[in-house]
Amino acid sequence: MKLRFVFPLLAISTLVQAAQVKIQEELFVPASNPEIVRDLIETGTVVIDHVSSEGFELYGPTGIAQYLDSKNIVYLDMKEINNKAFADYPSSMQIEAKLQELVQKYPKIMRLESIGKSTNGKDLWVMKISDNPGVDEVEPEFKYISSMHGDEITGRELMVTLIEEMGSKYGSDRTISELINNTEIYIMPSMNPDGSDLKQRANAKWTDLNRNFPDMTRDSESSPKGRQIETQLVMKFQGERQFALSANFHGGAVVANYPWDSKYDVHPLNDLVVELSQGYANLNAGMKNSREFHGGITNGAEWYIVRGGMQDWSYVWHNDLQITVELSDKKWPPYREIPGFYQDNRDSLVYFMGEIHRGAGFKISRQGVSGTVAIKQVNGGTRDLGSYAFRGSEFYKVLPEGDYLFSVKENGSQTVNTLSLKVEKNVVRSNGNYISLF
Ligand SMILES: [Zn+2]
Repeated sequence: MKLRFVFPLLAISTLVQAAQVKIQEELFVPASNPEIVRDLIETGTVVIDHVSSEGFELYGPTGIAQYLDSKNIVYLDMKEINNKAFADYPSSMQIEAKLQELVQKYPKIMRLESIGKSTNGKDLWVMKISDNPGVDEVEPEFKYISSMHGDEITGRELMVTLIEEMGSKYGSDRTISELINNTEIYIMPSMNPDGSDLKQRANAKWTDLNRNFPDMTRDSESSPKGRQIETQLVMKFQGERQFALSANFHGGAVVANYPWDSKYDVHPLNDLVVELSQGYANLNAGMKNSREFHGGITNGAEWYIVRGGMQDWSYVWHNDLQITVELSDKKWPPYREIPGFYQDNRDSLVYFMGEIHRGAGFKISRQGVSGTVAIKQVNGGTRDLGSYAFRGSEFYKVLPEGDYLFSVKENGSQTVNTLSLKVEKNVVRSNGNYISLF
C-alpha cells in the first residue's frame, strides 16, 4: 500500500511546531550536508541531529523515509540497528534494581528518589550522593542527567557505574570523599526509560524531550503547560533544588558541547563554559583528539541550532550552568565496550563534578527568605554579571576565579547587604564557599 505523504508544506515558519515534532521514523543520512533535505527542514516537522562529515540523523513523522526514497536519497533505518544492538543492554527495570541494590549497599551516602513516573508509568530515578543524604544541607548542588534520548544509552550505563564507584571509594579515595562530603550530587541515569525500553529516541508519545523545554528564543516564561510528563517532572525537580552546575549526556558523537544551543550569541560566562568543556575533553583522549571537533569541544549553535533543549533552559531560568556531553559515536556500542567508555570518561566525570566548587554563595540563617542578588566581578576592573533571584535562604553560583561583590536584597526590604566573595580554582571549602548572613 502506498503511504500518503503528509507534510504540511504551508506551515513553514512556526517554531511552536518544532516543539511538537512527532518522531516516528529515525534515519541516518550518509551525506555531510543537511541541505539535501532542505524541503523537509523547511516544513518544521523534522529534527536534524549530530551533523558530521559522515552524515546526519533525521527524525520525524511517518513518511520521511518514503520521501527520501522518492528523491533517491540514501539512508539507514536506525531503529533496525538499535533493535539488534540493544539486545545485551539491561532493561529499565534492571537498572532500577541495580540502583536499589546500590542504595542498600551505601545508605550512609546515598538516597534514591523517584521524581515521578514516565508516560508508561516507570519511575524517573535520581540517586542523591552526599554525606547525610537524608538531610537537605546547604552545600553546592550538582547534577548529571542522561539518556533523555532513549536510544543514546551509553550515558545511562556510565552513570550507574559512576554511582557504584563513588560508593565503593568513599572513605578511601580522597577526591571522591571530598566531593561527597562537601557537595550534594544528584545523578539521574535515565530521563526517558520508556524510550530506552522501546529502543527509540523519543518518549512513549513520539516526542523529542530535548526539544521540549522552554526556550528563551520563543518563550517568555518557563511554564510546564503542554509539555511531556518527563519534561514537566525534570522542570519541577530543578525548581525545587538549587543546582549550580550540571551536564546532560547523549550519544551519536564524541564532544563536549557548551551553550548556547538556541542562538549564536556568546554566553555571558563564555570563557568559563569553554574552559569547563575543554577540561572535560582534556581528560578523555578520544574526545580531545577528535577529528570532527577541534580539541573535542564545540559551541552548541555553531554545531547546529537546538530549540527547546535542556541545556540553555537550565541556565536561563535556573542559573544552573550546563554542558551537553556526547559520549559515543555509536549510540548503541556493543554492551561489552561499556567498561572502556567508562574508563575513557571516568576522570572527566569526576573533574567536572569538582568544578562546582569554583563558585560562591551565601546562606541566610532565617528560613524561607527570597530576594535578588546583583553580582559584580571586581578584580581587574568592574564587570557586571547581572541580577539573580534567590529563594530558600540560599544562593550559589559557579563563577570564574576572581573577586566579587554580591549585593543581596531580600524581598520586602530596602536594605542591601553587600558581601565580598572570592572564587578560587581547585579549592574545595568545607560544605562549599558560602558566607553566612543573619
Ligand atoms: Zn541526544
